[in-house]
Amino acid sequence: MTERQTVAVIGGGAAGLAAAISAAECGDRVIVLERMDRVGKKILATGNGRCNLMNTGAPEYHGDDRFAERVLWLCGAKEQMRFWRAHGLALWEEEAGRVYPVTGQASTVLDTLRFTLEKLGVEIRTGVRVTGLKRTDAGWLVLTEGEAVPCDRVIVAGGGKAQPKLGSDGSTYALLEAHGHRLINPKPALTQIETETDPIRGLSGIRVRAEVTVLRGQRRMRREEGELLFTDYGVSGICAMQCAAYITPAAELSVNLLPGMANENEIENALRHRRNIWRGQPADRLLCGLLVPRLAERVADQAGVKTKDREAEELKNDELHQLACVLRDFRLKPTGIKGFESAQVTAGGIDTEDFSPINLESQLAPGLHAAGEILNVDGDCGGFNLMFAFGSGILAGLNGRKRP
Ligand SMILES: Cc1cc2nc3c(=O)[nH]c(=O)nc-3n(C[C@H](O)[C@H](O)[C@H](O)COP(=O)(O)OP(=O)(O)OC[C@H]3O[C@@H](n4cnc5c(N)ncnc54)[C@H](O)[C@@H]3O)c2cc1C
Repeated sequence: MTERQTVAVIGGGAAGLAAAISAAECGDRVIVLERMDRVGKKILATGNGRCNLMNTGAPEYHGDDRFAERVLWLCGAKEQMRFWRAHGLALWEEEAGRVYPVTGQASTVLDTLRFTLEKLGVEIRTGVRVTGLKRTDAGWLVLTEGEAVPCDRVIVAGGGKAQPKLGSDGSTYALLEAHGHRLINPKPALTQIETETDPIRGLSGIRVRAEVTVLRGQRRMRREEGELLFTDYGVSGICAMQCAAYITPAAELSVNLLPGMANENEIENALRHRRNIWRGQPADRLLCGLLVPRLAERVADQAGVKTKDREAEELKNDELHQLACVLRDFRLKPTGIKGFESAQVTAGGIDTEDFSPINLESQLAPGLHAAGEILNVDGDCGGFNLMFAFGSGILAGLNGRKRP
């Protein structure tokens, strides 16, 4: 029989709580050290309070995407569903493979985790900030502002830098760097894009279904279709947030405002038909029924087509062509992206090269593990980030053992 080990988990977020459960279920004595006044604050904010906790579709990861896929090959949607079912959480799958708790409440996910930890006798110490990690002859010493916690294994799950008000302030990167691990520049991802504001004057609050492409010169860096929300500083919505990581000083955004139409010819024909429909009426009615009036105005501005004090039939064919071009390629010049305060996730993080995808153990320092967003893995919207956090956390806790 193997001796009961003590495992210290740094960070009581998605990855840390999942790791604590799987280690405790294997018989380890587990202590969770969390700097905030309670665990799981970020979980409560996820999915607009509904917690989109996994995705059953193909993996959509960036950074060390191959590492993420290996982890999820061992503990992906199927295994995680089994994990949740074993702890009494009923799930509900929506479109595009997005999975939520059946209650539609993120608090149900956190309650499931908390009550399971309580049942397993896991010790949770909140308001404890970890400041260092020391290797000893007997194992590890976790240093906090007040004390030193000895343990056999340590799992670092302190998250990245996204939304520090929810706990993750990037302070745990240094714990792994001190033991030889490399930090890949952390950047905000899944965040809003700031743009020059003249082309979007008066559009704040308008939502459209659009296709957004990030261009760098002639190169298409990323294309996303979905909801786009205009704001007073730029654009938001899933579509914009997924493009944010590709914004550089040279980038431009091309917004196709009519993604349902095949090409400019189809749009131009539709505009000629509309010119007939609105014969004898003000020219600004031409786009009525396609776009809301404020957006139609900005499109006409960008196309250089004057619609005020003219009738629809006065619009020339080349003006309709210009409008069709802008409807398919409404240009916005990004000036930056919103920072970590607004970002949902961190791109970059600790290089996974020196970690095993089987038990997330460091190959540089035995007994040291890392899980979740602290690693150089970030996923698309749709449940991919929590799925990696839970999956990597479960494997780190198991430490290569089979779930009993
Ligand atoms: C608003 C919002 C909505 C989101 N919605 C979704 C969604 O619907 N689906 C999805 O898949 N992903 C979503 N995400 C992303 C997802 O929540 C994260 O990727 C995931 O929670 C990361 O889990 P983690 O455990 O690695 O890190 P975190 O959840 O950040 O947990 C890290 C924990 O470590 C603690 N900690 C940090 N430093 C220390 C220290 N020095 N000492 C002690 N404790 C420390 C922190 O307080 C925190 O509790 C969302 C994120 C945000 C911000």
